[in-house]
Amino acid sequence: MFENLNEKLERSFQLLKGQGRITEINIAETLKEVRRALLDADVNFKIAKSFTEKVKEKALGQDVLSAVKPGEMMVKIVHDELAELMGGQSVDINLSGNPTVILIAGLQGSGKTTFSGKLSNLIKNKRGKHPLLVAGDVYRPAAIDQLKVLGEQINVPVYTEEGNKEPVKIAQAAIKQAKANGNDVVIIDTAGRLAVDEEMMKEISAVKKAVSPHEILFVVDSMTGQDAVNTAKEFNDRLDFDGVVLTKLDGDTRGGAALSIRSVVNKPIKYVGTGEKMEALDVFHPSRMADRILGMGDIVSLVEKAQEQFDAEEARKLQKKLVKNQFNFNDFLKQIQQIKKMGNIKDLAAMIPGMGKALKNVDIEDDAFKHIEAIIHSMTPDERNDPSLLNGSRRKRIANGSGTDIQEVNRLIKQFAETRKMMKMVSQGKNMGRMMGNLR
Ligand code: GDP
Repeated sequence: MFENLNEKLERSFQLLKGQGRITEINIAETLKEVRRALLDADVNFKIAKSFTEKVKEKALGQDVLSAVKPGEMMVKIVHDELAELMGGQSVDINLSGNPTVILIAGLQGSGKTTFSGKLSNLIKNKRGKHPLLVAGDVYRPAAIDQLKVLGEQINVPVYTEEGNKEPVKIAQAAIKQAKANGNDVVIIDTAGRLAVDEEMMKEISAVKKAVSPHEILFVVDSMTGQDAVNTAKEFNDRLDFDGVVLTKLDGDTRGGAALSIRSVVNKPIKYVGTGEKMEALDVFHPSRMADRILGMGDIVSLVEKAQEQFDAEEARKLQKKLVKNQFNFNDFLKQIQQIKKMGNIKDLAAMIPGMGKALKNVDIEDDAFKHIEAIIHSMTPDERNDPSLLNGSRRKRIANGSGTDIQEVNRLIKQFAETRKMMKMVSQGKNMGRMMGNLR
């Protein structure tokens, strides 16, 4: 899902590749592309506009970390704004009643009956509840049968009254029975129509009035794009529902509904349906949904980790040392520890888009730095500060002390000398920015 949006956003971030800093000029094109991608994904134009404005504001006010590329920084900013647009935090349903009454509303075919089954399955298995399903769609005998079949499948009782055409009476009787049988949650599936109509709204409002639900959930087919948003608005105006359920997110959806609904009706999305099976229901997490929309490896966590660990002051000091050729083994050790703090090398590499797949069958030693660290630790402080002291006998002592051998110690010292030479060249060179860009 969200394939189109992913690709378009990815392309827009590509525009920043090779740029050293985020400036008004170099993000203008990117922002235009982001806006276009959102519009193509069926996001309401007003929302797309205010979204890109917020992103711009944030991007320009941001110190670009030397550790990450501007493109990656933009991904993170867009990610956080997307999550914010979808409500920021996930919001649970209210299960505090005894019994808790949950009313399910939505158009016909949106997935109400399927969701009613999924929700009772979820709260039974994950929340230790004893739900009762209520067949409130009095017009379609097939809907009653469908609920009965689902109930059997997930082992949840279903309340039906064949022939009774009054949903209010059915709902009231069901709640009575739930109390008698110790069912602590009553989930009422209601009748939908193909389009919003007055009769349906009246009927469901009457049920609402009669049973005072703890939670009214509005179910909507995410594949219907902007229509989903309009329907949500009409239902909310009449019912003032508590949360939205987006179904069929597994399909070929453009995803715009997920992004627009929250800001149009100002009600949280609480669940997403991702298939026809009873298990295919997820609690809605805005941040995870943003991850999925961006779908670019886990760049976001990579940037977050870099933000946590990167110390600008340290970096400046290091830069100075590099220029003066004072980079020593203590700095080297610090660098290694910095990298290690960011996590397992393989995990880290996997966060880079494309790398995860490439590394799947490659064996990277988890603790690739173990020997290097052991060798440096076996050096005296003087030796670490001034690697030129490291003569043959000192090297032998270090090999013994670190449990390695003389070849390994020699190799590290040689590598270190070469690295230092190269870093010095790079840091003095006129084209440093470009060279570092290539390294990053
Ligand atoms: P209702 O008329 O609102 O009660 O809708 P139904 O529950 O009968 O669902 C309509 C159709 O959508 C059925 O064929 C369901 O199997 C299907 N459906 C419901 N939810 C999902 C979902 O999350 N993903 C997919 N792929 N299909 C779904």
